Amino acid sequence: MTMTNPQTYPQPAVELAGFVDDHLYGCEPVADCGVCGALARELAEARDAREHGKAYDAAAEIRNHPHPAKRKP
Ligand SMILES: [Zn+2]
Repeated sequence: MTMTNPQTYPQPAVELAGFVDDHLYGCEPVADCGVCGALARELAEARDAREHGKAYDAAAEIRNHPHPAKRKP
């Protein structure tokens, strides 16, 4: 699998890197969802391993993971 990253900077500023990271990998895994939990772990591991394509996919899956409407207890 190939990922093209249009935003390449020779020496990204720390704040900028954080911003790009949030943009690429920002997601809100649902706390009590096992799938989101597994994907969040996958995302963290992929980022540690600098597997950006895999990390991006995991974040996208978390964002797209469907959940039934929350009911109040
Ligand atoms: Zn989920």
